[in-house]
Amino acid sequence: MRDTAAIGEVLASAVAKLGSITDCARLEAETLVSRAIDVPRAYLFAHPEDRLDPAARSRLHAMLARRLAGEPMAYITGAKEFWSLELMVSPATLVPRPETELLVELALRDLPGRTEHQILDLGTGCGAIAVAIATERPLSQVTAIDISPDAVAVARQNVRQRDLGNVVCLLGDWTAPVRDRRFDMVVTNPPYVAADDPALAALHAEPDIALIAGDDGLAAIRVLARDCAEVLQPDGTLLLEHGHDQAERVAELLSFAGWQDIRCFRDYAGNPRVTRATRA
Ligand code: GLN
Repeated sequence: MRDTAAIGEVLASAVAKLGSITDCARLEAETLVSRAIDVPRAYLFAHPEDRLDPAARSRLHAMLARRLAGEPMAYITGAKEFWSLELMVSPATLVPRPETELLVELALRDLPGRTEHQILDLGTGCGAIAVAIATERPLSQVTAIDISPDAVAVARQNVRQRDLGNVVCLLGDWTAPVRDRRFDMVVTNPPYVAADDPALAALHAEPDIALIAGDDGLAAIRVLARDCAEVLQPDGTLLLEHGHDQAERVAELLSFAGWQDIRCFRDYAGNPRVTRATRA
C-alpha cells in the first residue's frame, strides 16, 4: 500500500467500497474524505491532486471501517438533518427518521403560532421532535423526557446549541417526572419494533431501548395509552408514531383506554405512521 494517495483516487476507492452497502456511496465517500482531511466538500473537487497525509488516511480508514460494519453515517459524523435542522446525535440516540417529520407537521397544524402551548415530548432521544416544535413555536414551552441519561445529555446539547429558551429536558420514565402537570399536547416516537423483527438486523448500531418494545412491539404504546391522558388537559391531543402495520392495533388499544377522535395519518412513503387521539 502506498503511503500517500491523491484525493481523487482515495475518493474513487471509497465510493467503490461503500457501493456495496449504500445507494449514496458518492455523497458518503465525499463526506468521509472531507472530514478526514478537515476541509469542506467543495475543496475535494478543486484539489483532486492533493495528497492525504498518513494521519488523514488513517482517520478515513477508521471511518470507512465503521461505515462498512453497518454504523449509520450520522453516528460517524455526529450529526443528522431533521426538519431543516442539523442535530447532534450519538449512539445513545436513535437517528431521526424522515417519517418522524410527519409527526412534527401534524403537531404544528394543531398548535396555532400566536398562542402559547404546553407540549410534552416523551422518549425524546436526541431531542429532534422537541427542538423542531420549539423552533417553530417560540411562544410555546416544550418539556422533553427520556429515560436514558446519555440521550438527555445529547438533547440538552441540541437545545443549548440553538439557545432555545423554551425547551426543558428531563430524565425519567415516560410521564413520571410530570405527573402533576397538564399539557395541551403529548408527542412521542416511542420504541415500537417487535423483539423478533428481522428488520432489527439492519438497525444493530442503534440503541435497543429506543427501538424494541416487547414481543409485539406495542409494549411502550400500551403504557402511553394508559398514562398520557392524566398529563393532558381535558381537550388535549396525543400524537403517536408507530410501525407501518400497527395502525389498527394502536387504534384498538387507544380506544380501549378511552381515547377519542382516533385518526391515523400516512407518512411520505404512504405508510400509516402517526395516530392522533384526544383525551376523553
Ligand atoms: N422508525 C424506526 C425504524 O425504522 C423505528 C423507530 C422506533 O421504534 N421508534 O425502524
